[in-house]
Amino acid sequence: LSFSQLGLSEWAAHTCKELGMKTPTPVQHHCIPRILAGQDVLGLAQTGSGKTAAFALPILHRLAEHPYGVFALVITPTRELAFQLSDQFRALGSCLNLRCEVVVGGMNMLNQAQTLMMRPHVVVATPGRIKALIEDNPDISAVFSKTKFLVLDEADRVLDVGFEDELRVVFQCLPKKRQTLLFSATMTSDLETLLELSANKAYFYEA
Ligand code: AMP
Repeated sequence: LSFSQLGLSEWAAHTCKELGMKTPTPVQHHCIPRILAGQDVLGLAQTGSGKTAAFALPILHRLAEHPYGVFALVITPTRELAFQLSDQFRALGSCLNLRCEVVVGGMNMLNQAQTLMMRPHVVVATPGRIKALIEDNPDISAVFSKTKFLVLDEADRVLDVGFEDELRVVFQCLPKKRQTLLFSATMTSDLETLLELSANKAYFYEA
């Protein structure tokens, strides 16, 4: 099956080809049509499986149809992962006028707050910094009030570090009507709890 046969636009399929992605990986094959159909997804997939493109491509496909406001919030456990994720979003969205911003610790919070107020399409954040920004400034919650997608990348690691409080603060400023995409290397009981709290009848993918 090709990327366009999974339901992605021609521009997305073309970008994949340019990036040397010839055929979809299994996680992409199974998750992309589900995400395009509006389902929540829990994917058990390792780094290297192509999981980033499995959520980034359908998000970008939807964004291209209705570009407005903060469209997707992606939470990941570390700064390094946040920058890698945003690099992939930018590469996959290179033919859209995509505004993707990284919000992580160790950088100026005032600048980050101003960046968020410009409502980028995709925000990639670590839990601690996004919580601090939301709590610091009530206007930041409003920035996320129409978010269409919440992605929790490496969700087992996010939970491992004990970021439940941070996630609670983030969930409070997201609309109930949204898609939740959880990706994790392993299934844990914390993840099951999180799934119950945050997702609707999620499609379950396991490699
Ligand atoms: P990830 O699992 O998201 O960390 O991706 C691992 C690497 O695989 C990234 O560098 C991607 O660019 C690459 N990749 C993702 N999907 C494909 C694909 N369908 N074909 C070839 N490479 C891919």
